[in-house]
Amino acid sequence: MKLKDKVAVVTGGNRGIGKAIALKLAQEGASVAICGTNEATLKEAALEIEKLGVKSFQLKVDVSKGPEVELFVKAVLEAFGKVDILVNNAGITKDNLLLRMSEQEWDDVLNINLKSAFLMTKYFIKPMMKARQGKIINITSVVGVRGNAGQANYAASKAGMIGLTKTTAREFSSRNITCNAIAPGFIQTDMTHALGDEAKEALLKEIPLGFLGETSDIANVAAFFASDDSRYITGQVVCVDGGMVI
Ligand code: NDP
Repeated sequence: MKLKDKVAVVTGGNRGIGKAIALKLAQEGASVAICGTNEATLKEAALEIEKLGVKSFQLKVDVSKGPEVELFVKAVLEAFGKVDILVNNAGITKDNLLLRMSEQEWDDVLNINLKSAFLMTKYFIKPMMKARQGKIINITSVVGVRGNAGQANYAASKAGMIGLTKTTAREFSSRNITCNAIAPGFIQTDMTHALGDEAKEALLKEIPLGFLGETSDIANVAAFFASDDSRYITGQVVCVDGGMVI
């Protein structure tokens, strides 16, 4: 139990990678607050967290909206009194070739994937600064490192998260707050389920280890960054991708 008595926040903790991270942190002893837009899956995930013997908190929040994020931060602090770990995980795709991409598709993806991480960090880092400790983990993507045809908005948002990670690490190291990013490759979730078999076959050829990742592969690394095992690491991007980025 490496996170006993810690409080963690996981955005998009009701599904996919975020839910796996929330459950892993709970298994390690942390109380976990989650947010998302779907109330039914939020309630289900919160119950699963509590079954692991820790406290949970859940709220419907659109992570791209400043006032909603502020309310969430206030509510989490009221419920738990502190925050030790923030995982910026919520994200979407709205793929299109650049020439066909609408401003709306660009704005939606940048706001939900990148602006959200800025807002969450801005508001949750204040109590971390007071406590002189904190762990921030941003879920980016190999696409933010390599680029990807058809994903100009998504790649830009994920590359932006890498810049945000490195800057947060530099600005808050003196307060004993670390900030690292995890760049998943191809992980089996609802997000990747939408891809056709042909696209999946093509992607498999780019994975040296030869198989798709699971949500637990990301959750294990998130638990490492959330614990003191990673105390001397900050500003780093770890690709968890079967070797896609070598
Ligand atoms: P899913 O589509 O399975 O889950 C997305 C999560 O984000 C859901 O919990 C969803 O909650 C939440 N979310 C979406 N929009 C909002 C919003 N406006 N406000 C609050 N929450 C929101 O995706 P994955 O689990 O696959 O992806 C999780 C993260 O990992 C994303 O950032 C993604 O970019 C990244 N990633 C995933 C990869 C993969 O292969 N799966 C590869 C690389 C990176 P709700 O349903 O309630 O809206």
